Amino acid sequence: MYFTGFACTSCDATYGPKEDLLLCPKCSNLLEATYNLDAMKRELDRDALRRRSGGVWAWQDFLPIVDADAIVSLGEGGTPMLRCDRLARLVGVRELWVKSDAANPTGSLKDRSITVSATKAVEFGYHVLSCDSTGNKASSVAAYAARAGLASVVFCPEDTPVPKVMQSLFFGAKVIRVRGHYAQINAMYRRLIHSGRLKWYDCGTDNPYRYEGKKTYAYEIARDLSWQLPDRVIHPANGGMSIAKAWKGFRELHRLGWIDRLPKMSGVQAAACDPIVRSWLARDSTVAPIEKNPTVAGALAGADPGMLGARALDAIYNSGGAMVGVEDPEIFEAMKLLALEGLFIEPSGAVPIAGLRRLVAGGQVDPGERVVCVVTGSGFKDSDRIAEQVEIPIDVVEGYQAMLAAAEQVG
Ligand SMILES: *Cc1c(COP(=O)(O)O)cnc(C)c1O
Ligand SMILES: [Zn+2]
Repeated sequence: MYFTGFACTSCDATYGPKEDLLLCPKCSNLLEATYNLDAMKRELDRDALRRRSGGVWAWQDFLPIVDADAIVSLGEGGTPMLRCDRLARLVGVRELWVKSDAANPTGSLKDRSITVSATKAVEFGYHVLSCDSTGNKASSVAAYAARAGLASVVFCPEDTPVPKVMQSLFFGAKVIRVRGHYAQINAMYRRLIHSGRLKWYDCGTDNPYRYEGKKTYAYEIARDLSWQLPDRVIHPANGGMSIAKAWKGFRELHRLGWIDRLPKMSGVQAAACDPIVRSWLARDSTVAPIEKNPTVAGALAGADPGMLGARALDAIYNSGGAMVGVEDPEIFEAMKLLALEGLFIEPSGAVPIAGLRRLVAGGQVDPGERVVCVVTGSGFKDSDRIAEQVEIPIDVVEGYQAMLAAAEQVG
């Protein structure tokens, strides 16, 4: 085991690897898992890891678990890395890769992190998993709870897309719909968890174990590109955890000497709810809450990223990346561009392509760049939004002759 415990991101407190922690008990700030990177450097071999198949748990040495028997997995991670030359030409960059986290077991990137928090729940002996969610995290918590034989309770805004609610319910979760938008629900949910009144294992925003699962897409990108890092990685941002943690993952590989450069971490939000973009434009180091407007990118509608937002900004400043906001019509165009490559992606998951187009148009991305866009949720997750984009034919043909006539019309 290389996991050594946690360090606070704000005060100088450190904690051992067996403690059941959420925020720093001393100062209530975010904790970050630490590892014995020197031992890892001596003992681990990147090419052995490269040959090892499997997803998130191929990187078990990089994850904060104590008991491998507790692992709760549905085969998450190890998602497709697709070179998209046609899409590259359409958006105007030299080389473009799309990593599709829609291929995860419940259809979104959340499985990467929830597999780790479900594992910790088993290690610590909890019986109930809980989270607040705009839908994807809820589906994932419900699925991993089922897989572990545990119960789950999820809190979702009332406008959560039906497929996400349905998925959670079908896995047996207790779904509590709450009035208000995500930032409001998040504040109340965190109050509930920190009240100490419930014996649930929180898989929501403050779980430092969960965050670590998000690092794994950095490892996969590096491995799948034979350790030749791209110029830039673009990811959708809600709270910004994925960006902050992928940056941590890349830095770990860099410290191990497995990669010799770091990518520019870039994030995309919906312009209707873009608190991190605003802070980045203002060169602030913290993220202030904003008034949220409606957007098709419901999974990115977190108007108050709080402490995590600051971590995402840190990654973006330190890597020389960028933040960008995109409008709903651009998001639909991005979904259609991805469909040209055979990818069926929900609006929130498709924003990196829209963001890349903006960054190229604005001269912030050089056309010579080699870029990886991570797309994060399946089109099935928000199928009503896609149904609005197509027209289901009204005519129905009957019998072979009519089918033949219709076929000949197509040519
Ligand atoms: C949760 C989510 C994200 C990323 O959220 P962060 O909080 O920024 O890590 C991105 N895309 C989709 C579809 C999501 O559900
Ligand atoms: Zn602290």
